[in-house]
Amino acid sequence: VIEIGQPEHSVVTTCAYCGVGCTFKAEMRGEEVVRMVPYKDGKANRGHSCVKGRFAWGYTNHGERILNPMIRERIEDPWREVSWDEAFSFAAAKMRGIQETYGRDAIGGITSSRCTNEETYLVQKLIRAGFGNNNVDTCARVCHSPTGYGLATTFGTSAGTQDFDSVEDTDVVLVIGANPASAHPVFASRLKKRLRQGAKLIVIDPRRTEMVEAPHVKALHLPLMPGTNVAVMTALAHVIVTEGLANEAFVRERCDWSEFEEWAAFVAQPKNSPEATAILTGVDPKDLREAARTYATGGNGAIYYGLGVTEHSQGSTTVIAIANLAMATGNIGRPGVGVNPLRGQNNVQGSCDMGSFPHELPGYRHISGDAVRDQFEALWNVKLNPEPGLRIPNMFDAAVEGTFMGIYVQGEDILQSDPNTKHVVAALSAMECVIVHDLFLNETANYAHVFLPGSSFLEKDGTFTNAERRIQRVRKVMTPKNGMADWEVTIGLAKAMGFEMNYGHPSEIMDEIAALTPTFAGVSYAKLDELGSVQWPCNEKAPEGTPVMHIDGFVRGKGKFVVTEYVATDERTGPRYPLLLTTGRILSQYNVGAQTRRTENVVWHAEDRLEIHPHDAEQRGVRDGDWVRLKSRAGETTLRAEITDRVAPGVVYTTFHHPDTQANVITTDYSDWATNCPEYKVTAVEVSPSNGP
Ligand code: SF4
Repeated sequence: VIEIGQPEHSVVTTCAYCGVGCTFKAEMRGEEVVRMVPYKDGKANRGHSCVKGRFAWGYTNHGERILNPMIRERIEDPWREVSWDEAFSFAAAKMRGIQETYGRDAIGGITSSRCTNEETYLVQKLIRAGFGNNNVDTCARVCHSPTGYGLATTFGTSAGTQDFDSVEDTDVVLVIGANPASAHPVFASRLKKRLRQGAKLIVIDPRRTEMVEAPHVKALHLPLMPGTNVAVMTALAHVIVTEGLANEAFVRERCDWSEFEEWAAFVAQPKNSPEATAILTGVDPKDLREAARTYATGGNGAIYYGLGVTEHSQGSTTVIAIANLAMATGNIGRPGVGVNPLRGQNNVQGSCDMGSFPHELPGYRHISGDAVRDQFEALWNVKLNPEPGLRIPNMFDAAVEGTFMGIYVQGEDILQSDPNTKHVVAALSAMECVIVHDLFLNETANYAHVFLPGSSFLEKDGTFTNAERRIQRVRKVMTPKNGMADWEVTIGLAKAMGFEMNYGHPSEIMDEIAALTPTFAGVSYAKLDELGSVQWPCNEKAPEGTPVMHIDGFVRGKGKFVVTEYVATDERTGPRYPLLLTTGRILSQYNVGAQTRRTENVVWHAEDRLEIHPHDAEQRGVRDGDWVRLKSRAGETTLRAEITDRVAPGVVYTTFHHPDTQANVITTDYSDWATNCPEYKVTAVEVSPSNGP
């Protein structure tokens, strides 16, 4: 820890890393952070934190931070530092010029799940009202967009059903496609505490994760082959239905019975039994039957899932399959049960809530709805386009085709984060104006014409919404080093484009959000200061928020069962690419490492490694620690091998925290059928010895 003397005052704020949303007291000396102390009254963390939130704020002062706006005519030109006004005028002229030449729909933007609710709200407002189209998307496209689709379809709302406290009433924990011990460590500690008290644990994951290996925890691990989630969930449902373990009383009362009957008849088909699907899934049928019986009969059953569910060609189908299972067993609508997406980034939930999808206004209301549009048009004083806009992958395709030529990217390194890097490079290279708004010159900025310096979470006011729908204050503890908080930058760009937005403080933006969004109707900074936080929906019916959803009925009315037929991904193994690659994270790093790699005070710099089973390593002449070439149909990269039986034969695994690894050079173009969320978790690869990069 860098100690700068004794603190003089402290400010309570919220961690800007993961979706747990721990609150901290930033202990300050003047404008310097002395230390971050986990806040004992924080409802999400209760005085705990992980190594990232507690120690990894040093990037705020990193020398590579860009503090002045920069512009250039062509990406071959050197950057030129300019005033904020000149940068805004330059960017606005380029974006307007593109619209005059190519049409109104030739520009768009991407909101950031790292920024505050207020900041993402302003970006989508700028695009819808200022650009005049709905070409707005969010980095949640590449992580939890299937959660939005799947839970909205089945329950009627795009959010987890429980608060974190709920785990204390859980008897059976089913974790699928998530490794909370690495990615959501503070919640994982609560989970493990409950497991040590006797709750049972089922882990569905291709890899033997830290949750499976946790001391004093006995886990039933189902090590499925990557890409077979739907088959496994359907096999679990098969056991529950054919062994008479469904909670028919709950289903009759709360769900559409005829849809349940159709679903039950489907899952009961012999082709969906654990035995019939065992070769496909790689899971022992005995374990699958035991898991189904335990979840259905073991008391309160709660499901927690992550990107190992969503980042598949059937990501939305798996989310629906999870919801089906919870409804069929009556594990919805009270403490201790539920369906809980573990959100990766601090404000994924919030960026989705704030209307960052091309088809939805804030509060998940479809843009085509006249009555909803009327409300926004009246307050924003514009006419809105009722047609949904482009998703991120469609923007890239349109750029390559020459019809989408300008983009504003808020706090996101799309070149590192999005799949098929070659295609992203082609798209960015084709555009006439790329505006990057970020803390550092990221990889995307290599293709940018305008760089707008971003502000860190320590330099601004606002709110984040965590994985349990908890809205919490982010409080400014220091003056923005770049001179402007992110919300002010978006306002500056909007004004230069001729669309006035007038707010004196982010609290006024929240007041507007509350006026336009029924689930936020009761939210204000005064209430957040008084209560510490609130979980949406927060409105007249629930003035202090809603910890557990769907208690008396689903948001959509009757819960909806949907048949989930397994469809194999088009990404197939074969003689040239016989192994399946899947990906994950380590505790000390965060996503592509833009912040954690720039924090000097902790040992973060563990490299990305390729985990490979001893059998596969031996076949290829690879020893532990050797450099290996990892090659897919899309591309190749080089990294060191770690030989381990944490992965099964035929499966390899790596993390993606370091730019040198370039994991997305090898990922493919396949994506979720409903939302275009990329299929990061399944790539056919071959591994061979290498001399290094
Ligand atoms: Fe921050 Fe998540 Fe760690 Fe909490 S668990 S300190 S929110 S990174």
